[in-house]
Amino acid sequence: MLTDCPPRKSRAEFHESDRVKSLEVPQNRTLLEIAKRLDSAMRSDRIADVRSACGEFLATASSFYGVPNCAVRVLAARPLRVRERGTFELFGDYDPKTSLIRVWMRTAVRKEVTSFGTFVSTLCHEFCHHLDFQKFGFPDSWHTRGFYERAAALYHHSRGTPPKKLFWVPLRGGRWRIDWQRTNRS
Ligand SMILES: [Zn+2]
Repeated sequence: MLTDCPPRKSRAEFHESDRVKSLEVPQNRTLLEIAKRLDSAMRSDRIADVRSACGEFLATASSFYGVPNCAVRVLAARPLRVRERGTFELFGDYDPKTSLIRVWMRTAVRKEVTSFGTFVSTLCHEFCHHLDFQKFGFPDSWHTRGFYERAAALYHHSRGTPPKKLFWVPLRGGRWRIDWQRTNRS
């Protein structure tokens, strides 16, 4: 995981996005239970059930955070042309103009099935883009350290796994990358 370069405009909002490293999560197991249904739908390749579980997951999360719901489209395979947001989005994307999340179950080239963990992580990641616009009111949604921490908080809540402390290494140009060795050791 790699952060975006600080933009020329909206620097204050970018730093705010970087600074906010925690995200409140629901005190119940609803998202966890929906994620479990999603897991079994993926295992048995029932795409209609995958779609409805994704829709329910996002509606539940939107209602908890008090933001308008976002639409979701679950695609069987990754489209060949994907609008990139500066950073590589391998398994999904989010359009702030339409609040539409797209996630795909297979990668384009090798048609490999996305693992359940990656799929949920993508769903949480794209939903956090939605939160950036709708909850935080940022003019854009950057991949900052805070963004990844917020997405990770939602992901671990949804899977019932303990949150990890993320360790970051500074790179040139104000970017950061995750130090996976330190992160996984802690
Ligand atoms: Zn992203």
